[in-house]
Amino acid sequence: MTAVVYLEQTDGAVDEPSLQAVTLASSLGGGAVHAVVAADTPSLAAAERLPADTVHVAVHEAFGSHAPLAIAEAVVELAGRLGATSVVGPGTERGNEVLAHVAALLDLPLAANCVSVADGGVTRVRWGGSLLEEARVDAPTLLLTVQPHAVAAAPGASDAPSVETFTPTLSDAALALRVVERVDASTGGVSLADARVVVSGGRGAGSEEGFAPIEELAELLEAAVGCSRAVTMAGWRPHTDQVGQTGTKIAPDIYIACGISGATQHMAGCKGAKRILAINADREAPILQSADYAVIGDLHEVVPAISAAIRAARSG
Ligand SMILES: Cc1cc2nc3c(=O)[nH]c(=O)nc-3n(C[C@H](O)[C@H](O)[C@H](O)COP(=O)(O)OP(=O)(O)OC[C@H]3O[C@@H](n4cnc5c(N)ncnc54)[C@H](O)[C@@H]3O)c2cc1C
Repeated sequence: MTAVVYLEQTDGAVDEPSLQAVTLASSLGGGAVHAVVAADTPSLAAAERLPADTVHVAVHEAFGSHAPLAIAEAVVELAGRLGATSVVGPGTERGNEVLAHVAALLDLPLAANCVSVADGGVTRVRWGGSLLEEARVDAPTLLLTVQPHAVAAAPGASDAPSVETFTPTLSDAALALRVVERVDASTGGVSLADARVVVSGGRGAGSEEGFAPIEELAELLEAAVGCSRAVTMAGWRPHTDQVGQTGTKIAPDIYIACGISGATQHMAGCKGAKRILAINADREAPILQSADYAVIGDLHEVVPAISAAIRAARSG
């Protein structure tokens, strides 16, 4: 068994979902685990954290920005050279995109968003988290992505993996597909996917301006701001803030849901939260069935009162 694991990096550091992916890969049959990152320089800050035997840095100027097909070509080249029996990636939007290209290049099936692998079968998340599917994969090379936050990232072994660099051969078509501009999300610097605290607003916020107390509380708690799809559909917040089946999947220590009813598609994105505090005017709102704590009341009164209490506690 030889596993090749594609890792995503942000600012030179390997992302948490990628650490979870390499952890799952290291449990696949005890063979060698080869991690691969794509970079425009041959540097890697976090190699010592990885439970892998070798970290391969695919170096190409195209990797200065996200270039999914080019990364896939580099992963396929490495997998072929190593005779990989599995190719694994994080089940993030970009990880799934890269692995989908890998699957297309190899003409093999891809099992996306897996939570476990055993005896040639996978268990994976389907329908926005509404059900788990057990499937057998009939292919010479197992291609899969790992559902974020389904596996705890294990620390690396005491010996740091060896690091090798290579320059992949990339097609012109692959080089044409790349991110040319980045617009930062309006999360005040805290990433929604990785935030330990998320304060989210729904239709109950009432308007774009109605998010002011939610933003204020988020700032006090160093939290990310999230929202429901009703909010993004109304144009009050960008889609990058949306939590849910068609938004970001989050797993904070606490999720504070203000004026959100708790539709299935919303809960699909926040059921990884360790604790949920619901602030809702309706004591019959479905979200109360999932909430650990609830305050029944108008969020425009409750949220400023929480912020005032935090300030008072900190100044006293
Ligand atoms: C294919 C598909 C994908 C979807 N994907 C997503 C997704 O990714 N994320 C998502 O969120 N939704 C998604 N949806 C939409 C989802 O079904 C719901 O419509 C949406 O989540 C509702 O948003 P909401 O809770 O903000 O609004 P509502 O359901 O209208 O709930 C508003 C809540 O606010 C409360 N409220 C009102 N005023 C106040 C106040 N002043 N103070 C306190 N509480 C108040 C109400 O009691 C109510 O519970 C999807 C739907 C489909 C069909």
